[in-house]
Amino acid sequence: MAIDFTLTAQQRDLQLTSRKFAKEVLNDAKAAELLSSPEERFLATKPTYEAMVASGYLRKCIPAPAGGDNAGLIDMAILAEEFYSVNASVTLTMLGTVLGLLPILLGGTPDLCKWLLGPFLKTSGAPLAGFCSSEPGGSANAGSPPPGEGVRTMARREGGNWIINGRKKWVSSATGWNREGADVLCVVCRTDPAAPPDAAISIIAVEGPVTGLVFERAIDTIGHRAHLVPQFGLQNVVTPGHNLLGQEGSGLALTAAAFTGTAALVGIFGVALMRAAFEFALHFARTEKRGGVHPIIEHQAVGYALADAKTTIEAARYLSWRACHALDAQSPAAEELAVEAKIFGSEAAVRVITDLMRVVGIDSYDHEAPFARLLQDALALPIFDGGNMGVRRRQLHMMFRRSDYDSLAACGAT
Ligand SMILES: Cc1cc2nc3c(=O)[nH]c(=O)nc-3n(C[C@H](O)[C@H](O)[C@H](O)COP(=O)(O)OP(=O)(O)OC[C@H]3O[C@@H](n4cnc5c(N)ncnc54)[C@H](O)[C@@H]3O)c2cc1C
Repeated sequence: MAIDFTLTAQQRDLQLTSRKFAKEVLNDAKAAELLSSPEERFLATKPTYEAMVASGYLRKCIPAPAGGDNAGLIDMAILAEEFYSVNASVTLTMLGTVLGLLPILLGGTPDLCKWLLGPFLKTSGAPLAGFCSSEPGGSANAGSPPPGEGVRTMARREGGNWIINGRKKWVSSATGWNREGADVLCVVCRTDPAAPPDAAISIIAVEGPVTGLVFERAIDTIGHRAHLVPQFGLQNVVTPGHNLLGQEGSGLALTAAAFTGTAALVGIFGVALMRAAFEFALHFARTEKRGGVHPIIEHQAVGYALADAKTTIEAARYLSWRACHALDAQSPAAEELAVEAKIFGSEAAVRVITDLMRVVGIDSYDHEAPFARLLQDALALPIFDGGNMGVRRRQLHMMFRRSDYDSLAACGAT
Protein backbone atom coordinates (compact mmCIF):
# COMPACT_ATOMS: atom_id res chain seq x y z
CA MET A 1 0.00 0.00 0.00
CA ALA A 2 1.24 3.47 -0.82
CA ILE A 3 1.62 5.77 2.17
CA ASP A 4 -1.29 8.18 1.93
CA PHE A 5 -2.83 10.05 4.81
CA THR A 6 -5.41 11.79 2.61
CA LEU A 7 -8.89 11.43 4.03
CA THR A 8 -11.60 10.14 1.71
CA ALA A 9 -14.48 12.49 0.84
CA GLN A 10 -16.64 10.61 3.37
CA GLN A 11 -14.00 10.90 6.09
CA ARG A 12 -13.60 14.63 5.45
CA ASP A 13 -17.37 14.97 5.67
CA LEU A 14 -17.39 13.01 8.94
CA GLN A 15 -14.65 15.29 10.27
CA LEU A 16 -16.54 18.48 9.41
CA THR A 17 -19.98 17.33 10.55
CA SER A 18 -18.66 15.96 13.85
CA ARG A 19 -16.67 19.17 14.40
CA LYS A 20 -19.88 21.16 13.90
CA PHE A 21 -21.86 18.85 16.22
CA ALA A 22 -19.17 19.14 18.89
CA LYS A 23 -19.21 22.93 18.69
CA GLU A 24 -22.99 23.23 18.68
CA VAL A 25 -24.02 20.44 21.05
CA LEU A 26 -21.12 19.09 23.12
CA ASN A 27 -19.66 22.47 23.99
CA ASP A 28 -22.67 23.61 26.04
CA ALA A 29 -22.75 20.30 27.90
CA LYS A 30 -19.44 21.18 29.56
CA ALA A 31 -21.50 23.13 32.12
CA ALA A 32 -22.48 19.75 33.64
CA GLU A 33 -18.91 19.45 34.94
CA LEU A 34 -19.53 22.30 37.39
CA LEU A 35 -22.27 20.52 39.35
CA SER A 36 -21.31 19.29 42.78
CA SER A 37 -21.71 15.50 42.90
CA PRO A 38 -20.38 12.96 40.36
CA GLU A 39 -23.83 11.47 39.76
CA GLU A 40 -25.47 14.89 39.28
CA ARG A 41 -22.80 15.74 36.74
CA PHE A 42 -23.29 12.46 34.87
CA LEU A 43 -27.09 12.73 34.85
CA ALA A 44 -26.87 16.26 33.49
CA THR A 45 -25.15 14.92 30.37
CA LYS A 46 -28.03 12.57 29.50
CA PRO A 47 -29.77 14.93 27.03
CA THR A 48 -26.44 15.47 25.26
CA TYR A 49 -25.78 11.75 25.10
CA GLU A 50 -29.30 11.24 23.74
CA ALA A 51 -28.55 13.85 21.07
CA MET A 52 -25.37 11.95 20.11
CA VAL A 53 -27.36 8.73 19.79
CA ALA A 54 -30.18 10.47 17.89
CA SER A 55 -27.69 11.96 15.43
CA GLY A 56 -26.39 8.48 14.69
CA TYR A 57 -22.94 8.86 16.29
CA LEU A 58 -23.21 5.70 18.41
CA ARG A 59 -24.21 3.76 15.28
CA LYS A 60 -21.14 5.22 13.57
CA CYS A 61 -19.03 3.40 16.17
CA ILE A 62 -20.61 -0.04 15.63
CA PRO A 63 -19.17 -2.03 12.72
CA ALA A 64 -21.30 -2.36 9.58
CA PRO A 65 -21.32 -6.21 9.68
CA ALA A 66 -22.99 -5.97 13.11
CA GLY A 67 -25.66 -3.59 11.79
CA GLY A 68 -23.97 -0.26 12.54
CA ASP A 69 -22.48 2.40 10.28
CA ASN A 70 -18.80 2.16 11.18
CA ALA A 71 -16.39 1.82 8.29
CA GLY A 72 -13.22 1.31 10.35
CA LEU A 73 -11.04 2.58 13.16
CA ILE A 74 -9.72 5.59 11.23
CA ASP A 75 -13.30 6.89 11.08
CA MET A 76 -13.56 6.32 14.84
CA ALA A 77 -10.33 8.26 15.32
CA ILE A 78 -11.62 11.19 13.24
CA LEU A 79 -14.86 11.30 15.22
CA ALA A 80 -13.11 10.83 18.58
CA GLU A 81 -10.67 13.67 17.96
CA GLU A 82 -13.44 16.14 17.11
CA PHE A 83 -15.64 15.17 20.07
CA TYR A 84 -12.95 14.64 22.70
CA SER A 85 -11.29 17.99 22.01
CA VAL A 86 -14.53 19.70 23.05
CA ASN A 87 -16.03 17.43 25.74
CA ALA A 88 -14.05 14.47 27.05
CA SER A 89 -16.68 13.39 29.60
CA VAL A 90 -19.63 12.71 27.35
CA THR A 91 -17.41 11.44 24.54
CA LEU A 92 -15.99 8.86 26.94
CA THR A 93 -19.53 7.86 27.90
CA MET A 94 -20.17 7.01 24.24
CA LEU A 95 -16.80 5.37 23.57
CA GLY A 96 -16.90 3.53 26.94
CA THR A 97 -20.18 2.07 25.74
CA VAL A 98 -18.48 0.97 22.53
CA LEU A 99 -15.75 -0.67 24.67
CA GLY A 100 -18.54 -2.36 26.62
CA LEU A 101 -19.89 -3.81 23.38
CA LEU A 102 -16.52 -5.01 22.05
CA PRO A 103 -16.51 -8.41 23.81
CA ILE A 104 -19.96 -9.03 22.30
CA LEU A 105 -18.78 -7.98 18.85
CA LEU A 106 -15.63 -10.09 19.18
CA GLY A 107 -17.02 -13.15 20.97
CA GLY A 108 -20.81 -13.19 20.76
CA THR A 109 -22.72 -15.70 18.65
CA PRO A 110 -24.75 -14.12 15.80
CA ASP A 111 -27.96 -14.59 17.79
CA LEU A 112 -26.50 -13.02 20.93
CA CYS A 113 -25.07 -10.10 18.92
CA LYS A 114 -28.44 -9.48 17.34
CA TRP A 115 -30.21 -9.56 20.68
CA LEU A 116 -27.74 -7.58 22.80
CA LEU A 117 -26.75 -4.98 20.19
CA GLY A 118 -30.36 -4.16 19.25
CA PRO A 119 -30.83 -1.20 21.63
CA PHE A 120 -27.48 0.29 20.56
CA LEU A 121 -28.37 0.34 16.88
CA LYS A 122 -31.42 2.52 17.40
CA THR A 123 -31.27 6.29 17.13
CA SER A 124 -33.30 6.86 20.25
CA GLY A 125 -32.77 6.61 24.01
CA ALA A 126 -29.51 6.65 25.93
CA PRO A 127 -28.27 3.04 25.89
CA LEU A 128 -25.15 2.29 27.94
CA ALA A 129 -22.78 -0.68 28.02
CA GLY A 130 -19.89 -1.36 30.39
CA PHE A 131 -16.77 -3.45 30.09
CA CYS A 132 -16.30 -4.68 33.68
CA SER A 133 -12.65 -5.57 34.02
CA SER A 134 -11.18 -3.39 36.79
CA GLU A 135 -11.67 -4.40 40.41
CA PRO A 136 -10.96 -2.85 43.80
CA GLY A 137 -7.38 -3.81 44.66
CA GLY A 138 -6.07 -3.56 41.09
CA SER A 139 -6.39 -5.17 37.69
CA ALA A 140 -2.93 -4.87 36.10
CA ASN A 141 -2.23 -8.46 37.19
CA ALA A 142 -5.55 -9.95 36.06
CA GLY A 143 -3.56 -12.77 34.44
CA SER A 144 -1.46 -13.55 37.51
CA PRO A 145 -1.07 -17.20 38.53
CA PRO A 146 -1.49 -18.10 42.23
CA PRO A 147 -0.57 -16.98 44.80
CA GLY A 148 -1.53 -13.73 42.98
CA GLU A 149 -5.27 -13.13 43.17
CA GLY A 150 -5.73 -12.10 39.51
CA VAL A 151 -9.44 -11.75 38.70
CA ARG A 152 -11.42 -12.07 41.94
CA THR A 153 -14.98 -11.90 40.56
CA MET A 154 -16.32 -15.45 40.36
CA ALA A 155 -18.98 -17.05 38.15
CA ARG A 156 -20.34 -20.55 38.67
CA ARG A 157 -22.80 -22.54 36.61
CA GLU A 158 -26.10 -23.42 38.23
CA GLY A 159 -28.62 -25.18 36.02
CA GLY A 160 -28.70 -23.26 32.76
CA ASN A 161 -27.39 -20.04 34.33
CA TRP A 162 -24.25 -18.31 35.51
CA ILE A 163 -24.24 -16.92 39.05
CA ILE A 164 -21.77 -14.03 39.40
CA ASN A 165 -20.30 -12.69 42.64
CA GLY A 166 -17.64 -10.02 43.06
CA ARG A 167 -16.87 -6.32 43.03
CA LYS A 168 -15.86 -3.98 40.21
CA LYS A 169 -14.49 -0.45 40.19
CA TRP A 170 -13.83 2.29 37.62
CA VAL A 171 -16.11 0.78 34.96
CA SER A 172 -17.45 3.52 32.66
CA SER A 173 -21.22 4.00 33.05
CA ALA A 174 -21.61 0.52 34.58
CA THR A 175 -24.35 1.32 37.08
CA GLY A 176 -26.34 3.16 34.42
CA TRP A 177 -28.48 6.27 34.71
CA ASN A 178 -30.38 4.96 37.74
CA ARG A 179 -27.93 2.72 39.70
CA GLU A 180 -29.66 -0.42 38.35
CA GLY A 181 -26.99 -1.22 35.80
CA ALA A 182 -26.22 -0.28 32.22
CA ASP A 183 -28.27 -1.94 29.45
CA VAL A 184 -25.53 -4.53 29.14
CA LEU A 185 -22.43 -5.34 31.17
CA CYS A 186 -19.63 -7.58 29.94
CA VAL A 187 -18.21 -8.97 33.16
CA VAL A 188 -14.70 -10.39 33.36
CA CYS A 189 -14.89 -13.22 35.87
CA ARG A 190 -13.20 -16.43 36.98
CA THR A 191 -15.20 -19.38 35.72
CA ASP A 192 -12.74 -22.08 36.80
CA PRO A 193 -11.10 -21.61 40.21
CA ALA A 194 -8.56 -24.38 39.53
CA ALA A 195 -7.40 -23.73 35.95
CA PRO A 196 -4.34 -21.66 34.96
CA PRO A 197 -5.22 -17.99 34.19
CA ASP A 198 -5.33 -18.39 30.41
CA ALA A 199 -8.09 -21.00 30.83
CA ALA A 200 -9.77 -19.76 34.02
CA ILE A 201 -11.15 -16.35 33.07
CA SER A 202 -14.23 -15.71 30.91
CA ILE A 203 -16.40 -12.77 29.90
CA ILE A 204 -20.12 -13.07 30.49
CA ALA A 205 -22.81 -10.63 29.35
CA VAL A 206 -25.39 -9.43 31.86
CA GLU A 207 -28.42 -7.46 30.77
CA GLY A 208 -29.73 -4.53 32.79
CA PRO A 209 -31.56 -3.81 35.01
CA VAL A 210 -29.27 -6.06 37.05
CA THR A 211 -30.81 -7.73 40.10
CA GLY A 212 -27.97 -8.12 42.60
CA LEU A 213 -25.99 -5.05 41.47
CA VAL A 214 -25.07 -3.15 44.64
CA PHE A 215 -24.09 0.46 44.00
CA GLU A 216 -21.29 1.49 46.38
CA ARG A 217 -20.20 4.93 45.15
CA ALA A 218 -19.57 7.13 42.15
CA ILE A 219 -15.86 8.01 42.14
CA ASP A 220 -15.14 11.76 42.31
CA THR A 221 -12.52 11.78 39.56
CA ILE A 222 -9.84 14.39 38.86
CA GLY A 223 -10.92 14.80 35.23
CA HIS A 224 -13.77 13.54 33.02
CA ARG A 225 -15.86 15.22 35.68
CA ALA A 226 -19.24 14.45 34.09
CA HIS A 227 -18.45 10.83 33.24
CA LEU A 228 -19.59 8.07 35.61
CA VAL A 229 -17.04 5.61 37.01
CA PRO A 230 -18.69 3.72 39.85
CA GLN A 231 -17.62 1.12 42.37
CA PHE A 232 -20.18 -1.64 42.81
CA GLY A 233 -20.81 -5.19 43.90
CA LEU A 234 -22.34 -8.09 42.02
CA GLN A 235 -24.19 -10.34 44.47
CA ASN A 236 -25.61 -13.58 43.10
CA VAL A 237 -26.26 -11.94 39.73
CA VAL A 238 -28.02 -14.48 37.48
CA THR A 239 -27.48 -14.48 33.72
CA PRO A 240 -28.27 -17.18 31.12
CA GLY A 241 -25.61 -19.76 30.32
CA HIS A 242 -25.63 -18.76 26.64
CA ASN A 243 -24.45 -15.23 27.57
CA LEU A 244 -20.88 -16.53 27.75
CA LEU A 245 -18.81 -14.57 25.19
CA GLY A 246 -16.29 -16.59 23.21
CA GLN A 247 -15.05 -19.89 24.57
CA GLU A 248 -15.10 -20.57 28.29
CA GLY A 249 -11.64 -19.62 29.57
CA SER A 250 -10.90 -17.18 26.74
CA GLY A 251 -11.54 -14.07 28.83
CA LEU A 252 -7.97 -12.79 29.07
CA ALA A 253 -7.48 -13.06 25.30
CA LEU A 254 -10.83 -11.35 24.64
CA THR A 255 -9.95 -8.58 27.10
CA ALA A 256 -6.58 -8.05 25.42
CA ALA A 257 -8.22 -7.92 21.96
CA ALA A 258 -10.78 -5.34 23.13
CA PHE A 259 -8.11 -3.17 24.76
CA THR A 260 -5.90 -3.26 21.65
CA GLY A 261 -8.56 -1.45 19.61
CA THR A 262 -9.07 1.17 22.30
CA ALA A 263 -5.33 1.81 22.69
CA ALA A 264 -5.07 3.46 19.28
CA LEU A 265 -8.03 5.67 20.16
CA VAL A 266 -6.50 6.77 23.47
CA GLY A 267 -3.57 8.09 21.43
CA ILE A 268 -6.14 10.21 19.60
CA PHE A 269 -7.69 11.37 22.90
CA GLY A 270 -4.25 12.80 23.67
CA VAL A 271 -4.15 14.53 20.28
CA ALA A 272 -7.60 16.00 20.90
CA LEU A 273 -6.67 17.53 24.26
CA MET A 274 -3.31 18.84 23.00
CA ARG A 275 -5.02 20.35 19.98
CA ALA A 276 -7.52 22.25 22.14
CA ALA A 277 -4.68 23.56 24.34
CA PHE A 278 -2.65 24.54 21.27
CA GLU A 279 -5.52 26.47 19.67
CA PHE A 280 -5.95 28.53 22.83
CA ALA A 281 -2.20 29.12 23.30
CA LEU A 282 -1.65 30.10 19.65
CA HIS A 283 -4.49 32.63 19.72
CA PHE A 284 -3.22 34.00 23.02
CA ALA A 285 0.33 34.32 21.72
CA ARG A 286 -0.81 36.11 18.57
CA THR A 287 -3.08 38.59 20.34
CA GLU A 288 -1.57 39.25 23.78
CA LYS A 289 1.28 41.73 24.34
CA ARG A 290 1.20 41.38 28.13
CA GLY A 291 2.07 45.05 28.52
CA GLY A 292 5.00 44.88 26.09
CA VAL A 293 5.40 46.21 22.58
CA HIS A 294 4.77 43.09 20.48
CA PRO A 295 2.40 40.11 20.66
CA ILE A 296 4.25 37.46 22.66
CA ILE A 297 4.50 35.19 19.61
CA GLU A 298 7.26 37.56 18.43
CA HIS A 299 9.44 36.22 21.26
CA GLN A 300 11.50 33.35 19.93
CA ALA A 301 11.07 31.29 23.11
CA VAL A 302 7.30 31.41 22.69
CA GLY A 303 7.46 30.53 18.99
CA TYR A 304 9.80 27.60 19.62
CA ALA A 305 7.62 26.23 22.42
CA LEU A 306 4.62 26.36 20.08
CA ALA A 307 6.70 24.62 17.41
CA ASP A 308 7.58 21.77 19.76
CA ALA A 309 3.94 21.37 20.82
CA LYS A 310 2.61 21.30 17.25
CA THR A 311 5.27 18.82 16.13
CA THR A 312 4.27 16.46 18.93
CA ILE A 313 0.56 16.78 18.08
CA GLU A 314 1.14 15.87 14.44
CA ALA A 315 3.43 12.95 15.37
CA ALA A 316 0.88 11.57 17.83
CA ARG A 317 -1.97 11.89 15.33
CA TYR A 318 -0.17 10.07 12.55
CA LEU A 319 1.08 7.31 14.85
CA SER A 320 -2.49 6.76 16.06
CA TRP A 321 -3.91 6.81 12.53
CA ARG A 322 -1.20 4.36 11.46
CA ALA A 323 -2.15 2.09 14.37
CA CYS A 324 -5.85 2.33 13.44
CA HIS A 325 -5.02 1.46 9.84
CA ALA A 326 -2.89 -1.50 10.95
CA LEU A 327 -5.75 -2.75 13.14
CA ASP A 328 -8.27 -2.42 10.31
CA ALA A 329 -5.88 -4.26 7.97
CA GLN A 330 -5.12 -6.87 10.69
CA SER A 331 -1.43 -6.23 10.13
CA PRO A 332 1.05 -8.28 12.22
CA ALA A 333 2.33 -5.03 13.77
CA ALA A 334 -1.12 -3.76 14.78
CA GLU A 335 -0.88 -4.57 18.48
CA GLU A 336 2.58 -3.04 18.82
CA LEU A 337 1.57 0.16 17.00
CA ALA A 338 -1.66 0.51 18.99
CA VAL A 339 0.16 0.23 22.32
CA GLU A 340 2.87 2.64 21.17
CA ALA A 341 0.22 5.14 20.04
CA LYS A 342 -1.45 4.87 23.45
CA ILE A 343 1.74 5.39 25.41
CA PHE A 344 3.04 8.20 23.20
CA GLY A 345 -0.21 10.15 22.78
CA SER A 346 -1.23 9.88 26.43
CA GLU A 347 2.08 10.93 27.93
CA ALA A 348 2.63 13.65 25.32
CA ALA A 349 -0.75 15.17 26.23
CA VAL A 350 0.19 15.71 29.87
CA ARG A 351 3.57 17.18 28.89
CA VAL A 352 2.38 19.37 26.01
CA ILE A 353 -0.56 20.85 27.92
CA THR A 354 1.75 21.90 30.78
CA ASP A 355 4.29 23.26 28.25
CA LEU A 356 1.53 25.34 26.65
CA MET A 357 0.53 26.63 30.09
CA ARG A 358 4.05 28.04 30.37
CA VAL A 359 3.56 29.79 27.01
CA VAL A 360 0.34 31.45 28.18
CA GLY A 361 1.72 32.10 31.64
CA ILE A 362 -0.33 32.95 34.68
CA ASP A 363 -3.65 33.40 32.87
CA SER A 364 -3.54 29.70 32.04
CA TYR A 365 -4.12 29.09 35.75
CA ASP A 366 -7.56 30.73 35.66
CA HIS A 367 -10.51 28.37 35.23
CA GLU A 368 -11.74 30.72 32.50
CA ALA A 369 -8.92 29.31 30.36
CA PRO A 370 -9.36 25.67 29.29
CA PHE A 371 -6.07 24.32 30.67
CA ALA A 372 -7.27 23.04 34.05
CA ARG A 373 -10.00 20.96 32.43
CA LEU A 374 -7.74 19.72 29.64
CA LEU A 375 -4.95 18.78 32.02
CA GLN A 376 -7.33 17.09 34.44
CA ASP A 377 -8.74 15.05 31.56
CA ALA A 378 -5.25 14.32 30.19
CA LEU A 379 -4.03 12.95 33.52
CA ALA A 380 -6.29 9.93 33.04
CA LEU A 381 -4.83 8.95 29.68
CA PRO A 382 -1.55 7.36 30.85
CA ILE A 383 -3.30 5.48 33.67
CA PHE A 384 -6.61 4.28 32.19
CA ASP A 385 -7.30 1.78 29.42
CA GLY A 386 -4.46 -0.28 30.88
CA GLY A 387 -1.96 1.87 32.79
CA ASN A 388 1.22 2.65 30.85
CA MET A 389 3.37 1.25 33.67
CA GLY A 390 1.39 -1.76 34.88
CA VAL A 391 -0.05 -2.89 31.54
CA ARG A 392 1.00 -1.14 28.34
CA ARG A 393 4.80 -1.09 28.62
CA ARG A 394 4.62 -4.66 29.89
CA GLN A 395 2.79 -5.61 26.66
CA LEU A 396 5.66 -4.20 24.58
CA HIS A 397 8.22 -5.80 26.89
CA MET A 398 6.56 -9.20 26.42
CA MET A 399 6.51 -8.76 22.62
CA PHE A 400 10.21 -7.88 22.53
CA ARG A 401 11.08 -10.99 24.56
CA ARG A 402 9.42 -13.34 22.06
CA SER A 403 11.97 -15.14 19.87
CA ASP A 404 9.80 -14.57 16.77
CA TYR A 405 9.46 -10.80 17.37
CA ASP A 406 10.16 -8.85 14.19
CA SER A 407 11.22 -5.29 14.93
CA LEU A 408 10.75 -4.25 11.29
CA ALA A 409 7.13 -5.44 11.01
CA ALA A 410 5.91 -2.00 12.16
CA CYS A 411 7.49 -0.28 9.15
CA GLY A 412 5.99 -2.80 6.78
CA ALA A 413 9.39 -4.17 5.77
CA THR A 414 8.26 -7.75 6.07
C1 LIG B 1 -12.23 7.66 33.36
C2 LIG B 1 -11.92 6.21 33.52
C3 LIG B 1 -12.65 5.25 32.84
C4 LIG B 1 -12.38 3.90 33.01
N1 LIG B 1 -13.16 2.97 32.37
C5 LIG B 1 -12.99 1.65 32.62
C6 LIG B 1 -13.85 0.67 32.05
O1 LIG B 1 -14.78 1.00 31.30
N2 LIG B 1 -13.65 -0.63 32.37
C7 LIG B 1 -12.67 -1.03 33.21
O2 LIG B 1 -12.55 -2.21 33.46
N3 LIG B 1 -11.80 -0.14 33.75
C8 LIG B 1 -11.95 1.20 33.48
N4 LIG B 1 -11.10 2.12 34.06
C9 LIG B 1 -10.02 1.65 34.94
C10 LIG B 1 -8.67 1.57 34.27
O3 LIG B 1 -8.69 1.48 32.88
C11 LIG B 1 -7.87 0.37 34.78
O4 LIG B 1 -8.19 0.05 36.07
C12 LIG B 1 -6.47 0.72 34.76
O5 LIG B 1 -6.00 1.00 33.48
C13 LIG B 1 -5.61 -0.35 35.35
O6 LIG B 1 -4.90 0.37 36.19
P1 LIG B 1 -3.37 0.10 36.48
O7 LIG B 1 -2.66 -0.31 35.27
O8 LIG B 1 -2.89 1.31 37.20
O9 LIG B 1 -3.50 -1.18 37.42
P2 LIG B 1 -3.35 -1.43 38.95
O10 LIG B 1 -3.58 -2.87 39.15
O11 LIG B 1 -4.20 -0.50 39.74
O12 LIG B 1 -1.80 -1.13 39.21
C14 LIG B 1 -1.34 0.05 39.88
C15 LIG B 1 0.12 0.31 39.59
O13 LIG B 1 0.93 -0.74 40.10
C16 LIG B 1 2.07 -0.97 39.26
N5 LIG B 1 2.02 -2.35 38.77
C17 LIG B 1 1.07 -3.26 39.06
N6 LIG B 1 1.37 -4.43 38.53
C18 LIG B 1 2.50 -4.28 37.83
C19 LIG B 1 3.30 -5.14 37.05
N7 LIG B 1 3.01 -6.42 36.89
N8 LIG B 1 4.41 -4.62 36.46
C20 LIG B 1 4.74 -3.31 36.63
N9 LIG B 1 4.02 -2.46 37.39
C21 LIG B 1 2.93 -2.94 37.99
C22 LIG B 1 2.00 0.08 38.14
O14 LIG B 1 2.76 1.20 38.49
C23 LIG B 1 0.50 0.42 38.11
O15 LIG B 1 0.28 1.71 37.59
C24 LIG B 1 -11.34 3.48 33.89
C25 LIG B 1 -10.57 4.45 34.55
C26 LIG B 1 -10.86 5.81 34.37
C27 LIG B 1 -10.03 6.82 35.10
